[in-house]
Amino acid sequence: MLRVLKFGGSSLADAQQFEKVANIIKADDTRRFIIVSAPGKRFSDDEKVTDMLYECYNLASKKLAIDEIFAKIEARYNGIISDLKLDLSLQSEFDRIRTAILNHAGRDYIASRGEYLNAIVMANYLGFDFVDAESGIFFNDNGKLDNKKTYETIEQILSEHTHAVIPGFYGVMPNGTIKTFTRGGSDITGSIVARAMSADIYENWTDVSGMLMADPRCVKNPKVIEHITYRELRELAYMGATVLHEDAIFPVRECGIPINIRNTNAPADAGTMIVSEVDNSFDNEVITGIAGKKGFSIITIEKDMMNSEIGFGRRVLEVLENHQISWEHLPSGIDAMSLVIATDVIKDCKESIIADIIKKTSPDSVVIEDGLALVSVVGRSMVGNKGTAGRVCSAIAEAQVNIKMIDQGSSEINIIVGVSEDDFLTALNAIYNEFVG
Ligand code: ASP
Repeated sequence: MLRVLKFGGSSLADAQQFEKVANIIKADDTRRFIIVSAPGKRFSDDEKVTDMLYECYNLASKKLAIDEIFAKIEARYNGIISDLKLDLSLQSEFDRIRTAILNHAGRDYIASRGEYLNAIVMANYLGFDFVDAESGIFFNDNGKLDNKKTYETIEQILSEHTHAVIPGFYGVMPNGTIKTFTRGGSDITGSIVARAMSADIYENWTDVSGMLMADPRCVKNPKVIEHITYRELRELAYMGATVLHEDAIFPVRECGIPINIRNTNAPADAGTMIVSEVDNSFDNEVITGIAGKKGFSIITIEKDMMNSEIGFGRRVLEVLENHQISWEHLPSGIDAMSLVIATDVIKDCKESIIADIIKKTSPDSVVIEDGLALVSVVGRSMVGNKGTAGRVCSAIAEAQVNIKMIDQGSSEINIIVGVSEDDFLTALNAIYNEFVG
C-alpha cells in the first residue's frame, strides 16, 4: 500500500500547521511521498508566500527595492524553523534567491521558490529526503508536461527513497529554466507523483472536510459529498465548485487512482473520495451536488418552420464563431432556438451579433435577455432514475420561481436549469431541500 499526499498552503502556514501535518504523516507508514505548497495565509488578511514572491518579481522588474517584502518572506520561514526548533538555516538559499531576483530571474523561477524552501523545511522536520521537482517534472518546448519522461524519471528517482518530500507547483523546461503550473498547481504535482508511483490513493489535504453538496455561501450547512466520480466533479467544477485544480484530475484518472480530499484541521473526517466508478451500494442520495452561477445571457431566435430549414443552426453558430464567441447551452424548440452565453463574453458585441443573425437567417425575431442564472443538479444516480427532472421542476415551482430554460444532456448525470438571477438562491435552496432536506 502506498499513499501520496499533498498539503496545501493553509496546511503549512505556520509551525502549528506543520505539527498537524507531521502527525498525519506519522500516523500511517504508507504515507511516504509528500508534496508541499508554499506557506499560505495564517489569517484572512495575511499574505501567501507565493503572492509575496510575485510581488518581488514585479518590484525587481521595475527596478524597485525588494528588501522589505523579501524580509517578510525570510521571516515566514525563519518563524517556522525556530518554532519547530529545527537545526536548519536557509540563509544561503535566501541569499541565492535574492541575488537571482535582483538579476531578473524568470517570474516562474521566483514564484517556485516558495514550494522549494517549504519542502526543505518539511523534509528536515520529518526526517525525510528532499527531492527537487526540478529533477523529475519535465515540460516540452510547448509548455505541456512531458508525460512519459516525467513518469519514468519520478518512478526511477523515488524508488531510491523510502520517504521523500517534493515541492509542488513547478518543473523544468528543456532549456533548464523553471516553469510553474497555473496557480494552485501543487495539486497537479501530487497527481503526477501518485500516477508515477502507481499509488493506491492520492490524499489531497486542505482546510475543508471534503467537497460540499452545495456552496455554503448559498445553502446553510450543506452536507459533505462522500463519493463523487471524476465526471460528476467535472460537471460541478464547470459551475465553479472546486476544491482541486482542474488539471489535477487527469494523471490519476487515467489509471483509476482515487483522490481523497481531507482536512488537515480535522484529520478524523473521512472527507470526499473522488473515484472513476462508484459502487451503487454507496449511494444514499439521488443527487451528488448542486452548483450554479449568475451572469448568463440568452439569445432566443424564432422563425416559423425553423425545424425544416436545413442549415439554420449552422448559420447561427457560424455567427458566433465569426465573433470568436463560445456558447454554453443550446436548448431548442420546434420553431425556436436559444443560446446561453456568458454575459461577459457578448456584452460588447450584442448589436452586431443580432445584426449578423438577422442577415444570415432572416428570423421572425431575435432577442437577447441578460440576468440569467444557471443551476446545475449533478448526480450519477439520476441515470435511469425516473422522476428526478420532475422533482427538480416541482421544487422550483413550489418556491414560486419561473424556469426560463432546462437542459438535460443524454448522459443524464446533469440537469441544468436557467432562472432569473433574482431567483438564484431561492431555486438553489429549493432543489437542495427537495433532495437532501
Ligand atoms: N503556491 C502556489 C499558489 O499559491 C501553488 C499551490 O499552492 O498549489 O498558487
